[in-house]
Amino acid sequence: MRGHFCPRPCPSDVRDAMTATASQRTNLLGMTREEMEEFFLSIGEKKFRAAQVMKWIHHEGCDDFAAMTNLSKALRTRLAEVAEIRGPAVVYEGTSSDGTRKWVLEVEDGTYVETVLIPAENGKRRTLCVSSQVGCSLDCSFCSTGKQGFQRNLSSAEIIGQVWVASNSLGPRRDPANRPVTNVVMMGMGEPLMNYDNVVPAMKLMLDDNGYGLSKRRVTLSTSGVVPMLDKLGDELDVSLAISLHAATDELRSELVPLNRKYNIRALLDACQRYLAKCGDTRMVTIEYTLIKDVNDQQEHAEQLAELLRELPCKINLIPFNPFPHSGYETPSRNQTMRFQQWLYELGYTAPVRSTRGDDIDAACGQLVGRVKDRTKRNERYIRSIQIDAD
Ligand code: SAH
Ligand code: SF4
Repeated sequence: MRGHFCPRPCPSDVRDAMTATASQRTNLLGMTREEMEEFFLSIGEKKFRAAQVMKWIHHEGCDDFAAMTNLSKALRTRLAEVAEIRGPAVVYEGTSSDGTRKWVLEVEDGTYVETVLIPAENGKRRTLCVSSQVGCSLDCSFCSTGKQGFQRNLSSAEIIGQVWVASNSLGPRRDPANRPVTNVVMMGMGEPLMNYDNVVPAMKLMLDDNGYGLSKRRVTLSTSGVVPMLDKLGDELDVSLAISLHAATDELRSELVPLNRKYNIRALLDACQRYLAKCGDTRMVTIEYTLIKDVNDQQEHAEQLAELLRELPCKINLIPFNPFPHSGYETPSRNQTMRFQQWLYELGYTAPVRSTRGDDIDAACGQLVGRVKDRTKRNERYIRSIQIDAD
């Protein structure tokens, strides 16, 4: 059980709660159904209150207990004393010319995370790219978030808060046939499996009918390959899986993804097979392959990749490298990208090139740069700069 709250309040607790500051109240936003039921039991209420309040929070976008009209007045007053619904504050919201939307959110300690919504061209899918950490400790050589270093894990409230904020700003979500956010990918800043304890409850809320009611096929966790946590995830959830592979030999992958020195390609692919076996359906793993000029974009790389993946039910996504200052890497030409795609095709793989979208608001994948290390001046400059970018 995460978080803490008073099991059965004595009068002095109630008095304290009445003068409590926001941060002393229990934040209900990131609680799973089980956690919320426990919370209600602990304040002497029935379990079913959890579903009622979850619907207010996640279906209606409500953050005010006073508006929860199916609760008694006494309960609403009590909740306002001991609990709160606190999401991240929106400090910037922008829409790029291709319809990609981006929010910069201020989380608890004055740091910022970015969340991006990418609409499909046919208008049917709206995929939210969610962050799990501020920065990342895994230091992949081609990733700007990794270059920022690790600052901290996001709480489950801060993770689900991104879905909450995006959904709220897109309108009502009561109609399951027309949800504001239809898909979630954990592909923003951070490595989700390095923040397992907070990511899993947030993902449970994405799936829960009283939360966002998304099917497990529409919620994807992307990982660079934290093998033990991947095994653990398979025991608890069966969301879709994306693996950041980027190379088909250990030598090259260790250069790009240092974590490979700990969990090599064989160990990672074996873990994928175990994960799929636990899902027990016809799911495939998505293999993410960031194409970097003259590093992993040659014919031999395509051949090695095709050979390596022979046994794994998977689809490959090609992502042209998104450049950032001082990365030392370049994006392959469009022709080279097409050639790589064609080589894979001839080897039996249809590998879509994931388009880089939202460029004009700096929102494309891999550009969730976590320019958040310095909490003062640099942040201010950042917010100013993206506002200018988006104008
Ligand atoms: N940490 C997780 C999820 C976040 S990164 C992971 O590594 O999977 C999301 C995706 O963006 C990953 O596939 C990552 O390899 C890719 N990526 C990171 N930096 C990139 C860049 N500069 N250009 C293209 N893709 C990048
Ligand atoms: Fe972290 Fe993923 Fe970036 Fe690697 S690619 S540094 S794991 S966010």
